[in-house]
Amino acid sequence: MTLALPGQEHVPKWLLDDLKKQPKSTTNTTCELRVMGTDEVMTCPVKQSTSVLEIKMFLAMKLGIDPGVMSVVTKQGCSWRIQTDSEEIARKVMVKGIKSFKRERHKWPSPIAIIGTGHAGLRQAMFFLKHKEYNFIVYDRKALVGGTSWIDQANTTSKLQTELGTYHLQYDEDNPVPKNMSTWPSTAELLQHFREVSEEYGIMPYCKMCTNIKEIKIKTGTKQEVQAEMQQRGWATQTYTLTLEPTDGTGDGRGDNIGATGAPCEDVDHSAVIMYPGNLTIPKRCELPGEDTFEGEISYAIMNDFDYGKVTGKQVAILGHGAFAVENLRTCMEFSCRQAYMVCRRKNLACPRVVSWFINQSVHPISGPLTMKSFLPMYNLLGYDPWAYHSVHANEKRTNVTINQKSRFGIGDVYFVANAMGICEVVEDEIKRVSAQHVHLQSGRKLEAQVILKLYGFNGNFDVDRLMNVKQMMGFWPDEDFRRYLIAEPIGVNATNFGGTSFSPGVRVW
Ligand SMILES: Cc1cc2nc3c(=O)[nH]c(=O)nc-3n(C[C@H](O)[C@H](O)[C@H](O)COP(=O)(O)OP(=O)(O)OC[C@H]3O[C@@H](n4cnc5c(N)ncnc54)[C@H](O)[C@@H]3O)c2cc1C
Repeated sequence: MTLALPGQEHVPKWLLDDLKKQPKSTTNTTCELRVMGTDEVMTCPVKQSTSVLEIKMFLAMKLGIDPGVMSVVTKQGCSWRIQTDSEEIARKVMVKGIKSFKRERHKWPSPIAIIGTGHAGLRQAMFFLKHKEYNFIVYDRKALVGGTSWIDQANTTSKLQTELGTYHLQYDEDNPVPKNMSTWPSTAELLQHFREVSEEYGIMPYCKMCTNIKEIKIKTGTKQEVQAEMQQRGWATQTYTLTLEPTDGTGDGRGDNIGATGAPCEDVDHSAVIMYPGNLTIPKRCELPGEDTFEGEISYAIMNDFDYGKVTGKQVAILGHGAFAVENLRTCMEFSCRQAYMVCRRKNLACPRVVSWFINQSVHPISGPLTMKSFLPMYNLLGYDPWAYHSVHANEKRTNVTINQKSRFGIGDVYFVANAMGICEVVEDEIKRVSAQHVHLQSGRKLEAQVILKLYGFNGNFDVDRLMNVKQMMGFWPDEDFRRYLIAEPIGVNATNFGGTSFSPGVRVW
């Protein structure tokens, strides 16, 4: 055990130096520690020469307390005596000054705020309940749980891309295996799932819906108070005052629609703020030159703004090659379009169904090279070489690979089958303009189409940074503040190993 542990500032330097100089026995043995006044015992592997101070440091780190509050007592003859810090720890000791070897839960003066009742926020709430943390409130500007992704962005024709496995909200090693979801659930099924599980697992009483968090003010103590707390425990108390704005429940993650009712706002203090705002919030929009001359349907094909019945028997130009574009190809095929073109500057990798399944059911993450190898049969069908894609960065021997693309994998086999059958063609080009039922490309090629679906992806929402007072992110913590935690799902892929293609219980701790 080294002495480079927190709390050393309480130990005189001469003692640390002295401990380092002493010759040490390296014989292994054990030491029985008992919490004074209780039956709680812990057996600790030690060296013959392990000092009392080292054990105190170990306990201090484990329990998150100051080593100075503990004394170690041992029996010598018929009497008990306190061991000094520099002594070798006795084989049987009692520890005075602690209540247990388990870390005491910190009691926050005000509740913890969770912002967002999408998949991620609900999972956080479930985690708190599982660990018996009841001092929290979950806020959302919407009237129902499920989040922007599934309530707003997804179409009624949308389905979960990934399959079963871990997307169940209640998926957890301590819960019974969830059975209440079909293999590729639809938007409606997923929303029902979120509602049912939130009710069943007791999350709803902690939710305050129809509440937009308008502002977060951070309050600290006086300079002297902060200094005193910093010296005592290394961190100072902060309070987060959330301004709650009542809404009619129609708000979404885009920021331009909060659904505010105009009713007065209310300020509420919280001790910590966890925000899961989602990332599929602001769809990228871009008007094409000549759109007014198109004489057909043009849509962003999101938020139910398009009736897919209109693609039946038609030629469709899908602009984009991200996950939503791949999903739209599937929907167009389900509605029997005559021909689809996917027009993109460069192709992103799409993931065959079986590979997604393989990745999600694996105990250990699948390596990049194995993932690429598993892609091959479907890509061979199309004559595409996935290793040549812009997002694939491999060494010469292809034993190491990183996939880095701005879009998540579109998952499913319809993409591959439709391309293999020739009813879909991926065209790598740029749009120059559109004219009556035609899309003109920079290369000079002209595609005939009666429908254009513009799937340009999403932008994040800077309102979130402003709300959370972010100057810089340190991991998931704005400005290194451990009481502010902010996670939005990644919109792309950047990985060398693949542990999952789906949200999972791990979503809370990305
Ligand atoms: C069509 C489609 C298919 C998908 N398929 C898959 C898939 O197969 N597998 C997969 O893992 N993922 C998939 N996803 C991704 C999906 O986005 C995530 O799985 C997940 O639903 C995101 O949840 P979230 O909680 O992070 O965010 P969101 O669902 O966006 O929820 C964020 C919530 O925060 C609330 N909020 C934000 N700001 C505030 C504020 N200031 N005050 C109050 N409330 C606020 C919003 O109202 C919203 O309810 C898909 C998404 C779509 C749209």
